[in-house]
Amino acid sequence: MNPRIAIVEDEPELAALVADYARANDYIPELFHDGAAALAAFKASMPGLVVLDLMLPGLDGLSLCRELRAFSQVPVIMVTARVEEIDRLLGLDAGADDYLCKPFSPRELMARIRAILRRTRPDAPAPAFSLDEGARRIAVHGKPLELTPSEYGILAALVRRPGQVFSRNQLLDLARAGNPNLDANDRAIDSHVKNLRRKLDAALPGVEAIHSIYGLGYRFDP
Ligand code: CA
Repeated sequence: MNPRIAIVEDEPELAALVADYARANDYIPELFHDGAAALAAFKASMPGLVVLDLMLPGLDGLSLCRELRAFSQVPVIMVTARVEEIDRLLGLDAGADDYLCKPFSPRELMARIRAILRRTRPDAPAPAFSLDEGARRIAVHGKPLELTPSEYGILAALVRRPGQVFSRNQLLDLARAGNPNLDANDRAIDSHVKNLRRKLDAALPGVEAIHSIYGLGYRFDP
């Protein structure tokens, strides 16, 4: 059965446009114009994925996402009107799987939906990555990667939450947790990620596992 995509959006024209694209991509769109109605409907029947506008009348997108996370891991793509807002939401750990800034291209939204559903589908192939938290080791197809403590901290966070966008600050905190002596700044994160990419490319040639999200940070999506 084709996945149901809930579109929680109070701008009717935008909601209708997204619904048209969803239908053209063989999804079943369900429209909600306010957060409280959406939440009540989700409690009765959970969609396959939620496209959630941040600014909504009544219950806003952030509150809705948090209430939803209390009982469901349904994938959420949060849509905001301002790119700065995404930083704030990342800092608040809003619980969304992906973020998109308005105005967005509906094609881009469909690509993100497809990527998330591919990951979360139960018949998706087993991930190539395995995480051994006790030994602080990450293996690709069973073969452990040679990682520094900082690289382990960063990659472990990414592997635990595939699809989630991490800001450089968040990754810096995670790197410091693995290596308290680390004297690092934003640029150090970029160099850790560069080294991780080199190691991952050797283990998984041709697979881009860590994606740069312009202006935001990084996302793990092998
Ligand atoms: Ca709105």
